[in-house]
Amino acid sequence: MRPHILTPLFADLKDLQGIGPRLQKLLKRLLAPQARQGDAKIVDLLFHFPLSLIDRRARPTIAQAVPGQIATMAVEVAEHRPPPRGQRRVPYRVICSDDTGSLELVFFHAKAAYLEKQLPVGETRIVSGRVEDYGGRLQMPHPDHILSEADLDELPLLEPVYPLTAGLSGKVARKAAAQAVARLPKLPEWQDPAWLARQHWPSFQDAVCAAHAPQSEDDLLPSSPAHRRLAFDELLANQLALALVRQRLHKTTGRALRGDGTLRARIGEALPFELTPSQAQVMGEIEADMAEPTRMLRLLQGDVGSGKTVVALLAMAVAIEAGAQAALMAPTELLARQHLKTLMEIAEPTGIRVALLTSREKGKARSEILDALARGEIDILIGTHALFQEGVDFKDLAVAVIDEQHRFGVHQRLALQAKSGAGAIDVLVMTATPIPRTLLLTHYGDMEVSKLLEKPAGRKPVATRAMPIDRLNEILDRLEAALATGAQAYWVCPLVEESDVLDATAAEERFAALKARFGDRVALVHGQMSGSDKDAAMQAFADGKVSILVATTVIEVGVDVPNATIMVIEHAERFGLAQLHQLRGRVGRGSSQSACILMYKPPLSETARARLNALRESEDGFKIAEDDLRLRGGGEVLGTRQSGLPEFRVASLPRDDDLLSAARDDARLILANDADLSGARGQTLRVLLYLFERDEAIRLLKAG
Ligand code: ADP
Ligand code: MG
Repeated sequence: MRPHILTPLFADLKDLQGIGPRLQKLLKRLLAPQARQGDAKIVDLLFHFPLSLIDRRARPTIAQAVPGQIATMAVEVAEHRPPPRGQRRVPYRVICSDDTGSLELVFFHAKAAYLEKQLPVGETRIVSGRVEDYGGRLQMPHPDHILSEADLDELPLLEPVYPLTAGLSGKVARKAAAQAVARLPKLPEWQDPAWLARQHWPSFQDAVCAAHAPQSEDDLLPSSPAHRRLAFDELLANQLALALVRQRLHKTTGRALRGDGTLRARIGEALPFELTPSQAQVMGEIEADMAEPTRMLRLLQGDVGSGKTVVALLAMAVAIEAGAQAALMAPTELLARQHLKTLMEIAEPTGIRVALLTSREKGKARSEILDALARGEIDILIGTHALFQEGVDFKDLAVAVIDEQHRFGVHQRLALQAKSGAGAIDVLVMTATPIPRTLLLTHYGDMEVSKLLEKPAGRKPVATRAMPIDRLNEILDRLEAALATGAQAYWVCPLVEESDVLDATAAEERFAALKARFGDRVALVHGQMSGSDKDAAMQAFADGKVSILVATTVIEVGVDVPNATIMVIEHAERFGLAQLHQLRGRVGRGSSQSACILMYKPPLSETARARLNALRESEDGFKIAEDDLRLRGGGEVLGTRQSGLPEFRVASLPRDDDLLSAARDDARLILANDADLSGARGQTLRVLLYLFERDEAIRLLKAG
């Protein structure tokens, strides 16, 4: 249960004064990117900081006012000059003056009655806004504030300016934020006092207040003490939550899986190649993990084509040798089918029984698979996420391999652990997206990490070129020549679903155009086709029956056709860097020279150009991942935006790298001293975890 003290912060936005259903909706839209599933609460306003500041402290006379600057002036209202009848374009002007000169307040589309009430002739009013010189006349178009002298103290002299969304006024945002700040209870200090003093950081409350009441431009910066403090709070919550998951994992007993090595030996003999040094090293790490009586939670990072599938098979073989079962989960049915094919070839001759379970296995076939699984007659079950749904019961599941799932977030890992219950299964997550160091810490800090650093020998680098779309004919001519030598090519188009929005050349159109030229040698595969149509197209390509496979990003992950040596990516400027790297990884798998053509539509934006250059200059996935992080930010790199994984609201990486390292060290130290957060500081840290919504980690404490 969330500590009582936080209740006011987790109340609904409509609890705030002046926020009805309409404004609530707008505020939610504004806060949604940061909040869970768009369900914004008052606490989300606390972390929604002003972007800039309007300084209204300058109090010039009319003669002293500087055009272009913000001024707050006391003026006497002399005369109203409404526009002539029927001339809506002419502004409504109100002539004002002081002892030094005259000032025109200018209003477009004005409501006369309202202005007469606000600015009665003969009275003094305080007006604040930007003044302008209009052909020698001093004007203030649409003053930001108009008040009587008596109300002067209501004028915000230093006015924070919040990021807005259409329909939401700055005033509403400011009032809502002010109310949220006012609701902030006095919270206990969870940071180490000595560390706070050394950093010269304020308390949490003071930091929130300062962030919302900037006194200077400096106060708006992420480097200000208030922002740094809050970023550190958030990173500490993140690191503490991951450390708790990890600690829990190490406490839960798993099972010691050793096996006698017979299956692994047979697989080794069946393989047409030797393991790379990286593969051998990683297998050693995995075998050691599995032999431990604790659960394995290991992330295997390996660039596309580095040979993760063999590692997965060998890891599963350990469990099978020990008399247990294994599961292999792929992100798409296409990949699940491909894994089935690969494993059938290598594993079945060694006596390992492999089966596939996807949404397409229905009726009798499905129940037969499920029965065999429950009887222990299937050693490896391959499938999509449906593998871990209700009704799929293994006789004795010991290891789960999750392939290509860079979207497999902490939530899902926790769900899987819960599902495995007393079964205590070992988990190996494989990702082809090399993950930058900082993101490893923030998103996978609960896992052990293995890396496949080098690729199997004999691979040639992929010759990568960027070309504008207007050279399409040239590209087609070259393609024709290459196909004549027996080569095969992928032709990737942006997603079909997004085509209307992005005005993408739909894969279908491109398919039709290529068919007109290349005839039956072209096949099409995209996400909206039926599973069997997709398979048929892929199969025809894999068997060499077609030469060109027009595809959307469904082929992004995992698909393996070594004879394909050409990759054309249309509208390459619309893809992310890591995604382009993944796509390029589909070629260069055999021993012949491969090519990747990045077709783009000029003009290229600055970032798109940087992205295409980064790709041309490097084939090192780890380097590309760091570049991607720099160009796009963490959430996009990991695809967490879609997965519902909480983004950081205050902290930002790699900007706050230094804080992240400190937070990690701190989290470790904290748990070393107080493993269940029951001590005095531990109690305050629980509040921190709830505040930043790392509740799941706390549930682990209860369960443990
Ligand atoms: P990924 O890491 O992208 O999943 P795969 O496991 O699909 O890579 O392997 C890519 C290709 O490399 C496959 O054709 C596979 O058979 C081959 N391969 C894997 N390991 C080796 C090795 N040690 N030596 C040579 N080829 C290998
Ligand atoms: Mg793979």
